Amino acid sequence: MAIYIYSDRKSLAAELVAFAKQEGKESVILAMGTPAEDFQGCGADKILEIGSGPAENYSKALADYLKKHTMELLLAGATLRGRDVAARVAGYMKAPLCADVHSIIGDAGDYIIERMMYGGAVNSRQKLPSGGVATVSSGCFEATSGQSVVETISLKEDLRVQLLSCEPVVRSGEDLSNATRVVSVGQGLKQQEDLALIRQLADAMGAALACSRGVAEERRWLPVEKYVGISGNILSPSVYLACGISGQIQHIYGVRDAKIIVGINNNEQAPIFAASDYGIVGDLYEVVPALIAELQRSL
Ligand SMILES: Cc1cc2nc3c(=O)[nH]c(=O)nc-3n(C[C@H](O)[C@H](O)[C@H](O)COP(=O)(O)OP(=O)(O)OC[C@H]3O[C@@H](n4cnc5c(N)ncnc54)[C@H](O)[C@@H]3O)c2cc1C
Repeated sequence: MAIYIYSDRKSLAAELVAFAKQEGKESVILAMGTPAEDFQGCGADKILEIGSGPAENYSKALADYLKKHTMELLLAGATLRGRDVAARVAGYMKAPLCADVHSIIGDAGDYIIERMMYGGAVNSRQKLPSGGVATVSSGCFEATSGQSVVETISLKEDLRVQLLSCEPVVRSGEDLSNATRVVSVGQGLKQQEDLALIRQLADAMGAALACSRGVAEERRWLPVEKYVGISGNILSPSVYLACGISGQIQHIYGVRDAKIIVGINNNEQAPIFAASDYGIVGDLYEVVPALIAELQRSL
């Protein structure tokens, strides 16, 4: 029985192929919304070219197809679209679904998966039976390579919801995902004008500016694409300096892969210190100017 793979990111598809090979199963990449040739090089046994419409439009027809072809598993890359497709197909198939898995391994005909829960506070182990569906995060397996046989099938596209237009969102400011240093500000900042102070520190460090969710969503002092955390940006900078941020788990989840976390907070009990490599207990209105002066002096 084959492991079927859907991902709108080629690199993630190649990682999921590696898992299928590790389990000694046939691997079949589902090319929906992306031409089959885009997945050449991922090393799958087969690429099923299904259609050029949005992947989610094939969910019902794909579920019917997979029911007839007794699949071992359907694995989708844990991207926005992968989650969407996996949930729809699992629903139509009445199949069990495990979301955002970061580890999966075969176990006597079933699969043991691990996934984070409660904003990363708990690592949960679950058993997914053969015939199940999972969305899998990137980085779990070493991507394979190699050419695949292409087979074209025709599945009916559900056109009840139609795409009218699609325009890129214009993002303001620098791209946080590539920043190696990030200075982030929380609701410990008293007023919007004081952002200038935090910007000055970011400039002195050659860092990008980010914030907690409250600063973006509630106070609207910075655009929402600037906030860090489980529902915002997930970053892995070399240095993350948190100014006036309490350090709740939902925020820290977004920088759990940062190399060095520095917390500045006037409450020594603030959770940010438990997550920090270095902590400064103090008023950010005193600490930040002192840091800027020190950085400028050493230039
Ligand atoms: C489902 C869910 C998802 C969420 N997702 C996210 C997310 O993705 N990202 C996110 O950020 N949050 C998220 N949150 C909100 C999160 O739980 C926290 O409420 C939020 O991160 C708190 O923001 P903050 O630390 O800026 O503010 P606060 O919690 O108000 O903390 C402000 C901190 O500043 C300190 N402070 C005050 N004055 C000073 C001063 N003068 N000098 C130094 N320190 C000072 C205080 O001691 C305090 O620790 C989520 C919550 C839920 C329920």
